[in-house]
Amino acid sequence: MDNSRIARLFNEVADLLDIRGENPFRVRSYRTAARTVEDHSEDLAAVLRDGGDLTALPGIGKDLAAKIAEIIETGKLGFLDELKAKLPPGLPELLRLEGVGPKKVKLFFEEAGVDSIENLDRAAREGRLRGLDRMGEKSEAGIIRAIENYRKHIGRFRLDDGLAAGAKILDSLKPVADRVVAAGSLRRRRETIGDLDILAVSSDPSALTDRFVNLPGTASVPARGPTRSSIRLEGGLQVDLRVMEGDEFGSALLYFTGSQAHNIALRRRAREMGLKVSEYGIFRGEEKVAGETEEDCYRALELPWIPPELRENRGEIEAAEDGRLPRLIELEAIRGDLQSHSTASDGKESIMEMGRAAGRRGYGYIAITDHSRAVRVAGGLDEKQLARHLEEIERAGEKCPGVRILKGVEVDILADGTLDLADAILRECEVVVASIHSSFRLPRKEMTRRIVRALTNPHVNILGHPTGRMLLRREPCDFDFEEVVKAAVGEGVSLEINGHPARLDLNDVLARRARELGARLAVNTDAHSSAQLDLMTYGVFTARRAWLEDRDVINTLPLEELLAALNRPTR
Ligand SMILES: [Zn+2]
Repeated sequence: MDNSRIARLFNEVADLLDIRGENPFRVRSYRTAARTVEDHSEDLAAVLRDGGDLTALPGIGKDLAAKIAEIIETGKLGFLDELKAKLPPGLPELLRLEGVGPKKVKLFFEEAGVDSIENLDRAAREGRLRGLDRMGEKSEAGIIRAIENYRKHIGRFRLDDGLAAGAKILDSLKPVADRVVAAGSLRRRRETIGDLDILAVSSDPSALTDRFVNLPGTASVPARGPTRSSIRLEGGLQVDLRVMEGDEFGSALLYFTGSQAHNIALRRRAREMGLKVSEYGIFRGEEKVAGETEEDCYRALELPWIPPELRENRGEIEAAEDGRLPRLIELEAIRGDLQSHSTASDGKESIMEMGRAAGRRGYGYIAITDHSRAVRVAGGLDEKQLARHLEEIERAGEKCPGVRILKGVEVDILADGTLDLADAILRECEVVVASIHSSFRLPRKEMTRRIVRALTNPHVNILGHPTGRMLLRREPCDFDFEEVVKAAVGEGVSLEINGHPARLDLNDVLARRARELGARLAVNTDAHSSAQLDLMTYGVFTARRAWLEDRDVINTLPLEELLAALNRPTR
């Protein structure tokens, strides 16, 4: 049981209460509790098991503590099920649409009789939403776009959700398996996954299958057999288990890790060498020449082992053949984080807490980059507030030996490409991340001009989450990527790979292209709490899929070299 599941259920409760128009304080107490739980670094199941007191957590009273215990013990929350029973079953799904919150759902339901996505789509296309409170033609068109978007992504899951589900399943199966691993797009660390492939070798296959089809959180069992079974989890994710012999494990792992395009290219290569590749092994005629390990299989094809993140048939086989595979960046190479938030804007911990957490991770530096005033919902800072905040960063730094807390800001790029704060204060910052948080839908030319203009400001160091996309939720901004990268290279601005698993922006393909064009990358977490500094691992996954090496990423540099690379004088 992980904390994020508890948080998800609490957020669902808050959404449903909100849709029902219940007391806002009650709604907020569930949302606050969800955030508290999500950000808590210990597993609450373990806390409970060790006799810990959940009411010691901020914002968790007796009632919520009992609900947490219920979720941990039963995997369910009766109260949530009761709430669900009182509303049309299609309503909560509306919340998955971009720009649709509980208030809108309530409005659509009560004023337009909308109780499902299909209904909403029809209402929008028939122009029945534009008359509603604070709805016009533009917002109606936004709803249609959001629905199209949502449908495009249906059946895809974020990598972090997939990894969390996968880790739990592997833990449960380990005691009854000799070997068990996750393959597929999860192993390749794709940003989203469609399903989960688990491979196992076991001396007791029927016990393994038994355990698998009875995993907690299973909603249905579409298939069950001695070598292959499938379950569907409550959230909709399908998990396939394949049981095999030990001497097939390597070839099966290779086969089920994919990608399909990589496998096809390998098969073609094998054919030219007079070999045959299948999930059962590599064969020359009837003779099996490899199968037990992946390394053996690649060796039989006269190739070195290729890291799963590269297996997309994007030139990795040719590179492997020529001995040109990149030395992919590793998490351990990261020496600091260049985008993070504190309580000064919408972060949840103080500068000091963020600094100390960075120190505990072994970082040499962390930039605190709170929002600027345009992001009002996040409590963005104006010039005066930022000036005071920078002083606070300095003071916190003095009390935080071993890690340098860099004075930073995440300044908004306004619609015309100017920045949200005056140069006089940006000059005082050591790290200026410039990002877009509004006007995402400008026409391509205008958007390109906007970003390029922002990059020409001499104080900008990093372009934050450059495309603005939110995975499975918001499409990227439309702009001329090559032109923006060339401007960034010319201006000495680094491009961010934002490691938040909802963003992963730049993505693998764009980050790789940016590097080819000579850009430097910064892999940041955008952490809003110290626990979120761990999201660096997702940024590094994306960097690896982009073929990046240590030297391509500025925050692998030691402090002094980093400061030089940022083109800022050292103090
Ligand atoms: Zn941002």
